[in-house]
Amino acid sequence: MANSYWVEPDVRFVKQLKRLGGDTLKKCYQCATCSVVCPISPEERPFPRKEMIAAQWGLKDKLVGNMDVWLCHQCNDCSTYCPRGARPGDVLNAVRAYSIQEYAWPKWLGKIVPDGRFWWLLLAIPVAIFLFLLGVTGHLHIPEGEIEFAKFFPTLLVDIIFVPLATFWIPVVFGIGIYRFMSDIHKNAVAEGKAKRKDLNIPDFLKSIACTIPTILSHSKFSQCTENKGRYLAHILVLFSFVGLFVVTNIFFVALYILQIPGPYAQANPVKILANISAIALLVGVILMISNRLKDTGANVGKGSYFDWSLIILVLGLVVTGGLSQLTRLAHLPSIAYPMYFAHLVLVFCLFAYLPFSKLAHLVYRTLAMAYSRYSEREPCD
Ligand code: SF4
Ligand code: SF4
Repeated sequence: MANSYWVEPDVRFVKQLKRLGGDTLKKCYQCATCSVVCPISPEERPFPRKEMIAAQWGLKDKLVGNMDVWLCHQCNDCSTYCPRGARPGDVLNAVRAYSIQEYAWPKWLGKIVPDGRFWWLLLAIPVAIFLFLLGVTGHLHIPEGEIEFAKFFPTLLVDIIFVPLATFWIPVVFGIGIYRFMSDIHKNAVAEGKAKRKDLNIPDFLKSIACTIPTILSHSKFSQCTENKGRYLAHILVLFSFVGLFVVTNIFFVALYILQIPGPYAQANPVKILANISAIALLVGVILMISNRLKDTGANVGKGSYFDWSLIILVLGLVVTGGLSQLTRLAHLPSIAYPMYFAHLVLVFCLFAYLPFSKLAHLVYRTLAMAYSRYSEREPCD
């Protein structure tokens, strides 16, 4: 006899999914076309049909902590072919957004980052901190003479703010989220019979992460999509430009504090060239992302919610303020260059401080889910 399952619909969970972009979830009539056309879904217990019925019933425990939700790359092949316009790709995206809030710590920050009513508060926090620090250190004015950003916002002050964010805040907050996430996806996979291994062995799991990295770097899952090929190029440009900017930041940090070479650095400096190429790649990637989301697919597919757009706008703002700071510095326009630099630092703060609660957190959670899928032998290692 089949095991009985006591269904406890969570209406608030359904409402949250609708608010996060899954507003069409009730349209699904379980035809399974989506699971058939999904190029990524495994043959055994394929997604996203089963996730759609769980979403309709508000079965939160079947969705939050479900590795399959994270294996989906939101290519929206399924949404294009869905005969009911239920947009399963967008529903899974909403489940991921909800899960990021669920694993977040502190919870209140996890709640306000994806909530469009609080964008002004998230910006006001760094603005207040920066104005206070500039005020007490006597830097709250436009400096005279040659434009040097360090004369306005001392490098030591920048590092006092951003080094703890990067080396303490992000690892600790993500560490808590990762612990909760891994416990849940393992429990869920064993309970649902998706994991061949019942234990969670850390050294073996680390090997699975290593075998997942080539898939992520090549974006080979994205390239399997047929309906939205543009997402592949946009995503890969953004990924590699972030990698480039990460490398540049670390080199400049070593140059300043270990080699004692202060900036500004010449435009012909190879590291500066890498920074500029990465910034241009990021700008092109973000513009492609915006045009992909805005293009008319006929069924409002993949348009995204506030959660998606807040990250896209933040990254666009980062590139524009960073580029304009540099251009106005070279054009000797201090009254524009210094405020632009201030705005750029505010947005960098938002990126760092809110990263574990934003859409960008999917980079970590999806990597772990893909690795777990290989660890649990749901998918083979490449
Ligand atoms: S989401 Fe669409 S394609 Fe998938 S089962 Fe429901 S109705 Fe069918
Ligand atoms: S969005 Fe793409 S990867 Fe996700 S379920 Fe649909 S077809 Fe599969």
